[in-house]
Amino acid sequence: MIRVRFPPSPTGYMHIGNVRTALFNYLYARKNNGKFILRIEDTDKERSKKEYEDDIINGLKWLGLDWDEGPDIGGPFGPYRQSERLDIYYSYINKLLNEGKAYYCFCSEEELEKDREEALRKGLMPKYSRRCRNLTKEQVQEKLDKGIKPVVRFKTPLNGEIIVKDEIRGDLTFPLENLDDFVILRSDGIPTYNFAVVIDDALMKITDVIRGEDHLHGNTPRQILIYNALNFDIPNFAHLPMILGEDHTRLSKRHGSVSLKDYKNEGYLPEALVNYMGLLGFSPENKEKEFFSLEELISEFNLKNLSKSNAIFSSSKLKWLNHKYIEMTDNKKVTELIKKYINDQFLVDDEWLKDVVRLLKEHIFVLSDINYILNDIFNPLPLDNEKIVFLNEQKNLLNEFLIGLENLNQWNENEILNLIRDTGKKLGIKGKNLYYPLRVAISHKEEGFEIYVYIYLIGKEETKKRIMEVINS
Ligand code: GLU
Repeated sequence: MIRVRFPPSPTGYMHIGNVRTALFNYLYARKNNGKFILRIEDTDKERSKKEYEDDIINGLKWLGLDWDEGPDIGGPFGPYRQSERLDIYYSYINKLLNEGKAYYCFCSEEELEKDREEALRKGLMPKYSRRCRNLTKEQVQEKLDKGIKPVVRFKTPLNGEIIVKDEIRGDLTFPLENLDDFVILRSDGIPTYNFAVVIDDALMKITDVIRGEDHLHGNTPRQILIYNALNFDIPNFAHLPMILGEDHTRLSKRHGSVSLKDYKNEGYLPEALVNYMGLLGFSPENKEKEFFSLEELISEFNLKNLSKSNAIFSSSKLKWLNHKYIEMTDNKKVTELIKKYINDQFLVDDEWLKDVVRLLKEHIFVLSDINYILNDIFNPLPLDNEKIVFLNEQKNLLNEFLIGLENLNQWNENEILNLIRDTGKKLGIKGKNLYYPLRVAISHKEEGFEIYVYIYLIGKEETKKRIMEVINS
């Protein structure tokens, strides 16, 4: 059975890169009737925070990616939070120590720093000198007795090579002479990522490790060394190409929001994000198709169609897609959603909100857009001089429209549109000569959505007030 995992470190808010990794693992599990496991990698005590863990868990739920085993629901291979698994790690550290596959290292920070500097001076890649690799039992005991707190290092074989078989990249060879004896247990008793991840993946019977390519060179060969040393089965690896911004540099704040919560707060729909992220580095068979539900992504997904080249994240494309999803969502649902985004000052009542959605939905790209649209409507900028001069010549039209408004007995967009047309007919004007002055007088702007919609939304009294202001100026 396929078993995959998403093991975030709760050292920051759920990142857009995490979303893609989680999604691809989820899709792979669901496609193959496998299991999707959530594991919290919180060994970095200083940087891990409960707030971030909650953010990740809530983010996954919001996206609709449910897991089969995890810290909140347990499972047969728990606990699923690394900070609760320390004893498990110690037993394997001891096993490696006893078998001579790992060793205590007592080198101080200063010594290591000196080594590093020396290597750099000689133009060599800094590597641990292996000074403690061959300490005798007595030497080790003596140092332990002195109270020196050691780290534990993995005894990397001095020659040979590690071959990483990657689903996306093919076979990659890593000569062991380039790897040093890396730390697997820190002096504070906390295992390093490369060690804990192997123990967990092996004990949780993970079959496929699908993660970012940033792990491929530095981590995967080291992890394979540990698998080998403990006689664990090595999972399949698929290292996903990186996500870059449109300028082809690594995705960062400069390219827009990178945290999932920011997208949620701005009013992106989870369906749009899932659709967009699902195609970031994955090509479905039908390359023309743009809209994929989560279900459709599941049925499309396979490792073969993962891309080798870096994926480009386009926030404008995502926004466009979100817009399309809002358009496709029925008005009732959009009304419900938008209620969470609309500022109190703009919320007249539920009926009004229904109208707002019906009339403005096509102008909304992210749900929070509603606030700037309504702000534009209700708090227009004052008219500038040029517009005042122009409107001075339009008083005839404005007066006529005002009279018509007074006599309107129903208030809906059709009636308003008819009134505009009738006013035009009466005065013998149409097209731009009719609509443009009304638009400028009422909205104070030269463009925007249909003026009859605008008038309907601000209401009769406000429309009259704005026209009067112009007439009296
Ligand atoms: N905690 C690691 C990270 O967030 C997990 C990497 C992995 O998938 O092995 O980068």
